[in-house]
Amino acid sequence: MAELKVKNSKETIRVENVYCIGKNYLEHIREFDTASKKDEVPEEPVIFLKPNTSVEMNPDKVSIPVFKGKGISDNLQNEIELVIIIGKDGVDIPLEEAYEYIFGYAVGIDFTLRDVQTAFKQKGLPWTLSKGFLGAAPVSDVVKAEDIDNPHDLMMRLKINRDVKQDANTSSMIFEIDYIIYYISCIFGLKRGDLIFTGTPAGIMRLNKGDLIEAEIEKIGKLKIKVV
Ligand code: MG
Repeated sequence: MAELKVKNSKETIRVENVYCIGKNYLEHIREFDTASKKDEVPEEPVIFLKPNTSVEMNPDKVSIPVFKGKGISDNLQNEIELVIIIGKDGVDIPLEEAYEYIFGYAVGIDFTLRDVQTAFKQKGLPWTLSKGFLGAAPVSDVVKAEDIDNPHDLMMRLKINRDVKQDANTSSMIFEIDYIIYYISCIFGLKRGDLIFTGTPAGIMRLNKGDLIEAEIEKIGKLKIKVV
């Protein structure tokens, strides 16, 4: 079970549920839906879950899972995301109180096996496998909420082999953090230690063995991960 470290502190926080928001940046929706040209902005946040075994704190590598001697995918992709760490339990959290429930923030990558996801979607089956494998949710040290003035004004940047591939600001989120907390808490309830991955901007791509991924969010931290 992953235990997250808090920056400049001896405090740790145990990871409970891992919620993820899909389609929360318009440019990503556009790159993702190019085939259908729908540009569909969801009416409410799109939620999916990863098992908490997929969370790893500051890992230095990631790999495609192997089953019966064979890699289960040929298309691992990067998604840099701002991660919210929930600090106290709550159900039906009012919008105006949502920020009181945040313990802190971290940098995360929502690693995705895109070919697996697409194949399962086309069959109308759940695509948990593509998002929930071991190491699919690397997370940095946690920065406490009181140290971040405005989580909706943070530069986020992901480089592959030193080339910038994802470059955006958290101000471009479609559903903002308070609304996401309100929404999830009304339906699932939230617990201390729950993580919320808030969605990725444009710039997702197929990763190759040997690629070095550097994901950084201003004022929060950095992940440096090699594809092996
Ligand atoms: Mg994502």
